[in-house]
Amino acid sequence: MLEIKNLHVKLQEEDKQILKGVNLSIGPGEVHAIMGPNGSGKSTLSYVLSGRDGYEVTEGSAKLEGAELLDMEPEERAAAGLFLAFQYPVEIPGVGNMTFLRTAVNAQRKARGEEEMSAGEFLKVVREKAKTLKIDAEMLKRPVNVGFSGGEKKRNEILQMAMLEPRMCILDETDSGLDVDAMKLVSEGVNALRSEGRSFLVITHYQRLLDHIKPDVVHIMAAGRIIKTGGPELALEVEHNGYADLLAEGV
Ligand code: ADP
Ligand code: MG
Ligand code: MG
Repeated sequence: MLEIKNLHVKLQEEDKQILKGVNLSIGPGEVHAIMGPNGSGKSTLSYVLSGRDGYEVTEGSAKLEGAELLDMEPEERAAAGLFLAFQYPVEIPGVGNMTFLRTAVNAQRKARGEEEMSAGEFLKVVREKAKTLKIDAEMLKRPVNVGFSGGEKKRNEILQMAMLEPRMCILDETDSGLDVDAMKLVSEGVNALRSEGRSFLVITHYQRLLDHIKPDVVHIMAAGRIIKTGGPELALEVEHNGYADLLAEGV
């Protein structure tokens, strides 16, 4: 599904190399987690995959179902099936959540050469999915993320994800700032979206999210590289011993 090879990334404005040869291969239906200390390049990886400005790829490739993501515009990446849920969801004053969702869904359908979803169909689907995520009708009418609590914003992002039906979902520290109940809701939402044709990359600083979203593979990232890959037990190892031992091994 996602094949990242030897990815090197530097900041555009500065001569600072952030990713130093990342290799990552995620198969269809698989859930991979990336853990690692702060500043290791986890968010940079997700930003570069989404096509955010400010970064320069100096080497390597990132293919989604065989198509080079790095050659695509951000909208094309979304249309190709990539979805990113960010650590800090943006607020969009003046744009109703429902309108935003419908615009996003139809823009994606258009980019894929599919027919628009009718207003009636959209309403039915969005209500159904919102219910699963315990998002009430009131929240759907409010401006996007404005005045939402941390947990509401994250649930709203999972709703966006559910509506866009992506193939490859990347969650960057979706658990940060969430209390246990909100984290459970978000995890349940994600778990409900797991399927054979959809893969996930879950980026997290802490192990606790992985108690709820059980990964198939865990990677440890440090200083711009993946230094270790293993099964779910690797996350528990980090939980118990911290990163120090792994970092010492990885050097
Ligand atoms: P993580 O998500 O693992 O905490 P980041 O990808 O956010 O790591 O950051 C990796 C490194 O790159 C850090 O040293 C960070 O300070 C630096 N960095 C990332 N983006 C920028 C930027 N736009 N300007 C300056 N430094 C940046
Ligand atoms: Mg960080
Ligand atoms: Mg980060």
